[in-house]
Amino acid sequence: MQEQDYPRTMGQQFGRRSWAEPWKIKMVEPLRVTSRAEREAALKAAGYNTFLLRSEDVYIDLLTDSGTNAMSDRQWAALMMGDEAYAGSRSFYRLEATVQQVYGYRHIIPTHQGRGAEHLISQVAIRRGQYVPGNMYFTTTRLHQELAGGIFVDVIIDEAHDPQSQYPFKGNVDLDKLQALIDKVGPQQIAYISLAGTVNMAGGQPVSMANVRALRALCDRYGLRIFLDSTRLVENAFFIKEREPGYAEQRIAAIVREFCSYTDGAWMSAKKDALVNIGGWLALNDDQLADEARNLVVVYEGLHTYGGMAGRDMEALAVGIEESLQEDYIRARIGQVRYLGELLLDWDIPIVVPIGGHAIFLDARRFYPHLPQDLFPAQTLAAELYLDSGVRAMERGIASAGRDPKTGQNYYPKLELTRLTIPRRVYTQAHMDVVAESVKAVYDQRHQARGLRMVYEPRYLRFFQARFEPVE
Ligand SMILES: *Cc1c(COP(=O)(O)O)cnc(C)c1O
Repeated sequence: MQEQDYPRTMGQQFGRRSWAEPWKIKMVEPLRVTSRAEREAALKAAGYNTFLLRSEDVYIDLLTDSGTNAMSDRQWAALMMGDEAYAGSRSFYRLEATVQQVYGYRHIIPTHQGRGAEHLISQVAIRRGQYVPGNMYFTTTRLHQELAGGIFVDVIIDEAHDPQSQYPFKGNVDLDKLQALIDKVGPQQIAYISLAGTVNMAGGQPVSMANVRALRALCDRYGLRIFLDSTRLVENAFFIKEREPGYAEQRIAAIVREFCSYTDGAWMSAKKDALVNIGGWLALNDDQLADEARNLVVVYEGLHTYGGMAGRDMEALAVGIEESLQEDYIRARIGQVRYLGELLLDWDIPIVVPIGGHAIFLDARRFYPHLPQDLFPAQTLAAELYLDSGVRAMERGIASAGRDPKTGQNYYPKLELTRLTIPRRVYTQAHMDVVAESVKAVYDQRHQARGLRMVYEPRYLRFFQARFEPVE
């Protein structure tokens, strides 16, 4: 498909008529607006790391789309139906049947959230010293692979590292890179392919159906397994429907099911696509691997029929999975993200394009061309945005990338991004207008930014708890 073939704006897609959120508000939660002086004090106390702010001090919270979803009336009703039996909970069997039906896998193992499942799959499927090729890394995913003795290798297409490339499927695996790795180390030294759709760190960019199909064919030649990070697969399916020939008339549910059919198992952070505040699962087709994972889940999470979730959480999750597949829901979800992105593009503010599924990624390299990566430009931008308006964003650049476990040297990722992540069904278009205007205000003052230096660095996943100070 050519770049110019797919619509850049919702206006182009739906004609000149406005669209609105396909829900109305039944319960409201007040927001607090703070003064500039209050925000300066709060940011200083938080070590200039937006993860360390108190949410009370935040106005519009775009830190993450993880667990920040608004549940529907049906989900709240389902909470009351939770079966809290320690073993064999009815709520587990409902969840199991839903995941089996929607995603198509045989064995379902619940976990407290996504990283619980990542831990299990890494422990059962990686032998020390094996390689784990993936379409770009994700923080918790790669860490669990490394803790299990795996060596992560990025095999995403080059376009993914270029924030200005308009390629419609920037999440795709580069099959030549994967083939080169197979040729170099041999298929026995590859644990599995770690495939994610959409790719969070590349800007919420999708994988095409053609790519996963071709990946399956290549892996079959060498007996390699593909495990899928299905955290935002529903959003990936929307892009396939929109951009890939032959899928325009298919239902999102059918696209999700076909995509999964090319893989051997999946893990999920239900806190994203699945419209709940906590939860996750691991799904496997292989009987023996599933037995091993079920054995480990009782060590780290809980019995295999709850895995760290309450019965009510599993009920709400089952309903959330069903709602996530509704066509009007997913169109409005991606549409809201795109609405914000287009406001910024209209002002020539540098963002990652095409606009992805769950967030707008500000390109901090082009935003602050005078700041070297060692001065944490993306972290600086998140701090400036909070100071301006109380909007909370997060860094996805050198702080998130961490250090090479072998050499101890910083990773220097090509992408130095500040993420404005949109919670599902929480904010309205009016909130998006306020956010866009704040980004514009910070952009107008961009020449004054001086950068940050790190004064405290935790050992694991440092971006969560690192502390910074302004450079004088
Ligand atoms: C959030 C996330 C995870 C980890 O899930 P948690 O529920 O936060 O533990 C894994 N992969 C991707 C792509 C994610 O976005």
